[in-house]
Amino acid sequence: MDVMIVSKPRILIIGAGYGGMMTATRLIKELSPNDAEITLVNKHNYHYQTTWLHQPAAGTLHHDRTRMLIKKVVDPSRVKFIQDTVTEIKPKENKVITENGELAYDYLVIGLGFESNTFGIKGLDTHAFTIRSIDTVRKIRDHIEYQFASYNHDEEPKDHKLTIAVGGAGLTGVEFVAELANRVPELCREYDIDRSKVRIINIEGAPTILPNFDKELVDYAIHQLESKGVEFKLNTFIKECTEESVIVQEKDSEDLEEIKAGTIVWTGGVKANSIVEKSGFQTNRGKIEVDDALRSPEYPNVFVVGDCSLVMDKETNRPCPPTAQLAMQQGVALAKNIRHILHNEPTEPFVYKNKGTVASLGAGDAIAVVGNKRIKGAPAAALKKIVDDRYLLMLGGVGLMVKKGKLNLFK
Ligand code: FAD
Ligand code: NAD
Repeated sequence: MDVMIVSKPRILIIGAGYGGMMTATRLIKELSPNDAEITLVNKHNYHYQTTWLHQPAAGTLHHDRTRMLIKKVVDPSRVKFIQDTVTEIKPKENKVITENGELAYDYLVIGLGFESNTFGIKGLDTHAFTIRSIDTVRKIRDHIEYQFASYNHDEEPKDHKLTIAVGGAGLTGVEFVAELANRVPELCREYDIDRSKVRIINIEGAPTILPNFDKELVDYAIHQLESKGVEFKLNTFIKECTEESVIVQEKDSEDLEEIKAGTIVWTGGVKANSIVEKSGFQTNRGKIEVDDALRSPEYPNVFVVGDCSLVMDKETNRPCPPTAQLAMQQGVALAKNIRHILHNEPTEPFVYKNKGTVASLGAGDAIAVVGNKRIKGAPAAALKKIVDDRYLLMLGGVGLMVKKGKLNLFK
């Protein structure tokens, strides 16, 4: 008698960021082991919380606090983890190509996150640091520390060696300069340097920092950060970056100015991982515009979460900004929809719920907009910790939150 072996559908998740991790952990809850074979592929064997990276970049938090081994969070008996780097997706062949081979799938979840967008500005790719991953932020922290450590040993120290220029005063730029403002006095003490020799300059093309916050909160943020020595240059565009300077131009001016700096960090924008576009998907602003089941319009077995997806916010009728908040909500919804699909049930439409935004201004300070409420200072900073810890709770339960969280309940 012939025995027919029915193989389980293969679900492949690429990228273990907010979207990929949330999809994997929720799929474990939504599906039984017999429903599907789940594989998760990621460049590193750890997941890191991108939303905390401004802190290790400035050196105010050790990078190990922001990362965790994937196998400790995603049950290895339910999800096969492969550490590898994806180089191409071949959706017509239901295959993903990696540095070490290829992986076939029946259902694919793309969660490869973002890349820094330098908009083709000359020299930025070569000379500026970016806040993207554990690897990139370790470099920033070490570089800044080296500038301080070597300053008093230089025979003729350059005036600008201790100038840190940050391009872009969106949320990433402002959260980073806020951390720097707290870190610099420590570095000065550690390396016997007068604080007056250090400059932190945040350069922004728009007339204001944090364009999505109201004026009252923006004024508060500027006041708090200027009082700690941060200089803002608004209405000023970075036009070029060299090894030791940024060339800027003020709005409505013909003149170019060179700002010399020993450290240059670019936080001027992000785009979807370029693997998506290179793999030939139809894209809108480099992202895949998914349907309300988070599916690619071209390939019904390909789903996209996080910064590689484009979702319209039904309230504002504009694309949802690429945030961890969105990626997490998508992961939760997608796991449910994959269960529906495997069980031949109708899918549920994904609707993004904006829960608000909190911008950290360094330890103990922040600004926040939650619904109609405007919050600043210590209560907003506490809210930021609650938001960070809520993610850990959703991802790995109370144990993970207590171990890695910021509220330090038991420490
Ligand atoms: P990511 O979280 O970026 O993860 C992508 C994963 O894919 C990573 O593990 C990466 O290593 C892996 N990967 C990438 N390429 C490959 C490859 N080729 N092969 C294999 N693996 C690969 N959003 C908020 O909502 N709230 C905040 O407070 C907030 N703060 C932020 C602070 C900073 C400093 C930054 C930079 C961003 C912040 N964001 C915040 C935005 C948020 O971090 C992103 O929107 C979110 O990380 C996107 O999630 P994702 O799952 O798409 O990708
Ligand atoms: P962004 O695109 O939001 O901000 C980039 C800033 O750089 C803008 O203000 C822009 O005007 C400026 N800029 C661009 N080109 C410039 C130039 N040539 N010269 C000077 N300034 C220039 O990028 P981001 O801050 O990295 O944020 C990326 C995404 O991550 C957003 O969706 C954001 O909401 C999210 N994020 C959220 C948080 C949070 O919720 N706390 C923190 C960080 C990032």
